[in-house]
Amino acid sequence: MKEFDVIIIGGGASGLIAAISSSRKGAKTAVIERLQRVGKKLLVTGNGRCNFSNASLQRNKYHGTDPVFIQNVFEQFNGSQILDFFHELGILSKEEENGRIFPRCDQAGAVLDVLRYECNRLGVDELSSREISEIIQKKDKFILKTAKNEEFHSKKVIITTGGKASPQFGSDGSGFALAQKLGHTIIEPYPSLVQIKLDDEYLNHLKGIRSDARASLYSNESLIDTQEGEILFTEYGISGIPILQLSRYIHHPKLKDTSMELHVDLFPEISFHDMKKMLIDRFQTLSYKSVEHAMIGLINKKMIHPTLTLARIDKAKISSELNSTEIENLAHQIKDRRFAVTGTLSWRDAQVTAGGVSTAEVNDRSLESKLVPGLYFAGELLDIHGDSGGYNLAWAWASGYVAGMHAAKSINGKKKIKK
Ligand SMILES: Cc1cc2nc3c(=O)[nH]c(=O)nc-3n(C[C@H](O)[C@H](O)[C@H](O)COP(=O)(O)OP(=O)(O)OC[C@H]3O[C@@H](n4cnc5c(N)ncnc54)[C@H](O)[C@@H]3O)c2cc1C
Repeated sequence: MKEFDVIIIGGGASGLIAAISSSRKGAKTAVIERLQRVGKKLLVTGNGRCNFSNASLQRNKYHGTDPVFIQNVFEQFNGSQILDFFHELGILSKEEENGRIFPRCDQAGAVLDVLRYECNRLGVDELSSREISEIIQKKDKFILKTAKNEEFHSKKVIITTGGKASPQFGSDGSGFALAQKLGHTIIEPYPSLVQIKLDDEYLNHLKGIRSDARASLYSNESLIDTQEGEILFTEYGISGIPILQLSRYIHHPKLKDTSMELHVDLFPEISFHDMKKMLIDRFQTLSYKSVEHAMIGLINKKMIHPTLTLARIDKAKISSELNSTEIENLAHQIKDRRFAVTGTLSWRDAQVTAGGVSTAEVNDRSLESKLVPGLYFAGELLDIHGDSGGYNLAWAWASGYVAGMHAAKSINGKKKIKK
C-alpha cells in the first residue's frame, strides 16, 4: 500500500499534464495506468504527428450538453499557455492549415517523451500495468483498488481515464463505471470523429476515390451541417476530415432514429447553374466523343459509369446528341449525389467519445466533483468533445492542467513549489 497526496487514474494526455501541474504545486503525485506504458494513444494522434492544439480555440468547436463549461478552464490555461508549456519542455511547434498546431519535428513520440521526462524529473510515480477497478471514499482520503487487489491511498483523486473511443489504446470506458459508482451521472456516450457507413449500389466502383468535395448531412430531409475538404470513398462508405466532422450527428440522441442522407458536391467551387454551363460547353467542344470519353478529365474515371447510369444517360451516346434534361440530370449527379447513411464504424475506429461524465455535477473552475469533495475529472471522460483540428488534445491539456493544479493547491498551501 502506498500513500500519495494526489493520484491520477489514467496516463493519457490529460493524466500526464495533470501529474505535472499537481507535482509542480508540491503534491506527492502518482499516475496509475492500466496499460504497460503511459501515452499509447498520444503516439497515434495526428497520424503519428500529434496535432496537439489549434491556433484558435473557439468555443463553437466544442460540443456536449453544456459546451460553455470549457470557458473557465481555458481562461486558466489557454491556447498560448499550452504552446508555452510545450516550448518550455523543448517542443518547437508549427501551424498548418486551419490553425492546426503540430510539433515542428512531426513526431507524436517527442510530445510523449517530454511529458514523461518532466514527470520523472518532478518525481511523479508512474505506476503502469495497473487497472483501477474500485475507488472507496473514506473521511479524509480515497482508497484505490486495482483489479489485482493492490491498494493505494490518496488525499485527492483525478480521473482521466478517457472515454470509450479506440479502446485498443487503453480507454475502454472503465472510468465511466468508476464515476458512476461514486454517484455521478453519465451522459450516454456515443462515438464521434468516425467514418460514416453508406448504403449505395455503386460503392464498389467508388472505393478508393479521393476528391475535394462539399459533404452535407440531412436528417429527415432537413440540412444538419455542411463540411468541405478531401473525402475518401471506401468499401463500407466514406471517410476524410469533413466526414469525421459530420459523424458527431449520426448517433446524437435527437437524430439517431431519423432517416439520414449524405449529399456530396464534387464541384463546390461553382454554382449549379455554372456547372450546367460548363457541361454544355464541354459537350460542344468534345462533340465528336462519346459521353463516356467526354467525361474523362472532368471527374474521377471510376465515377463516370455510376454517374452516367444514375443520370440515365447511355455512355456510348455521342456528346453532341445530349438533350438539356440529360445535362441537367448529370449536373445533379455531380453536384448533389445522394447516399443513404446507415451508421458509423465502431468504437474501435472512433477518435473521440461524445457524452460522458455530466458537467452539471462538476465545478467548472476547479474541475472538482460537486458530489464527492476531493475527486476531480479531466479530459475526454467529461461530456465535452471537440472537432477535428487539435481541439480534443487542447481540451485534454487545459482540463488536465487545471484539475492537477486545483487538486494539489487544495492540500498543499504550505509545501514548497517545484520549478
Ligand atoms: C487515432 C486517433 C487520432 C487522434 N488524433 C488527434 C489529434 O491529432 N489531435 C487531437 O486533438 N485529438 C486527437 N485524438 C483525440 C485525442 O487523442 C483524445 O481526445 C485525447 O487523447 C484524450 O485524452 P485523455 O487523457 O482524456 O484520454 P486518453 O488519451 O484516452 O487516456 C486515458 C488513459 O487512461 C487509461 N485508463 C483507462 N481506464 C483506466 C483504469 N481503470 N485504470 C488505469 N488506467 C486507465 C488508458 O489506458 C489511457 O492511457 C485522436 C484520437 C485517436 C484515437
